[in-house]
Amino acid sequence: MDLAVRNARVRDQRDLVDIAVEGARIAAVGPRLAAAAGEEIDAAGGLVAPGFVNLHLHADKSLLGEVMRPNVSGTLPEAIEITNEFKRTYDPDEVARRAGRVLEAGVQNGTTFFRLFADVGTIGGLRAARGLLLARERFRDLCRIQVVAFPQEGLLRDPGAAELLEEAIKEGCDVVGGLPWYEYTDAEAREHIDICFALAKRHDLDLHMLVDDTDDPGSRSLEYLARTTMRERFHGRVAASHCGAMAAYDDVYAAKVIDMVATAGVTISVNAHINLVCSARIDREPKRRGIARVKELLARGVNVISSQDDVNDPYYPFGKPDQLEVALMMAHTAQLTLPHELEQVFDMVTTNAARAARLDDYGIAPGRRADLVVIDAPSVHEALRTQPPRRCVIHEGRAIARATLSRELRRSPTPRGG
Ligand SMILES: [Zn+2]
Repeated sequence: MDLAVRNARVRDQRDLVDIAVEGARIAAVGPRLAAAAGEEIDAAGGLVAPGFVNLHLHADKSLLGEVMRPNVSGTLPEAIEITNEFKRTYDPDEVARRAGRVLEAGVQNGTTFFRLFADVGTIGGLRAARGLLLARERFRDLCRIQVVAFPQEGLLRDPGAAELLEEAIKEGCDVVGGLPWYEYTDAEAREHIDICFALAKRHDLDLHMLVDDTDDPGSRSLEYLARTTMRERFHGRVAASHCGAMAAYDDVYAAKVIDMVATAGVTISVNAHINLVCSARIDREPKRRGIARVKELLARGVNVISSQDDVNDPYYPFGKPDQLEVALMMAHTAQLTLPHELEQVFDMVTTNAARAARLDDYGIAPGRRADLVVIDAPSVHEALRTQPPRRCVIHEGRAIARATLSRELRRSPTPRGG
């Protein structure tokens, strides 16, 4: 075998196992596999998971916080406005280099699959998309990347954006984005969704939209997105990020929409940390969290995921990016703290996200892709609690990142008296 991960704690396995890798695939999983490997990695009883999956990252905007003025109101409209000033002059190579810094950090933290959102519209044209397509090429040896053609200024609000979106797809974008709630009227939000589905059908692509990212209880595009998904038979091919208006819906309407989302097989990406910062800015007290109803979605069997979304940009000043940190934020925000709920949170950045991206060969089993992260903690609970370094990250059977942490605590030789 080419590579072996020894003494691995794998979820759903009682004993420690070895994982044997041949080429880009897992060849065997079992206790104490005898054959020697070209490269040996000792997990030392640490958790080994399939590589993290981050399906919502604005890599074109990442790190703009280093060069742009701060978002004084902290709101989404101001974030959009100040980003626009900058992206008129985007240079694709600069976008790719900035995205590359974030991808490198993400990979080192164990993410092996990214879905990058590229703003497409009349302000920046195709510059951001071309930059992220360039990054996709440059990072082929480290991770898999999909680029989403994303109409950040709307489609009806930004005449010409729909044509640019199709151009971006022809140039190689993998997923059709959308931002229906940002249109001026409900009718235009629905038209926005129709345009996106027409594009997705023409090019046989999946959809990932940012939906109802507002505290307005009247924002209702998720309902129409779910209905359209059913009508077009796109079950399992549509993801909706945010959906924070759900927090403002009354309970009866929320239950109806959650049921529709489940029936349509729409994935909900709850990027909770972003909404904690951006949502409910107009609320006095009590302030809403502004995130989708995670527990109700889970109870209805909806595929819920969580994604980094932003890294030091006008929307959000933090982000390492690290899907383990994202999962920890989800646990806090959605109050998922019981043992089985911690496992659910971990699923949101691994198996659930892989399902949303339709990665059929994801997971730790013979024949699956050897994309793995070795975490320096013995369990999901401890991984979330201590946020430890990733001992090793494996992509397509190759160890592409390693980390060690050396810490020292110096005690006094004799107890200090008063
Ligand atoms: Zn976003």
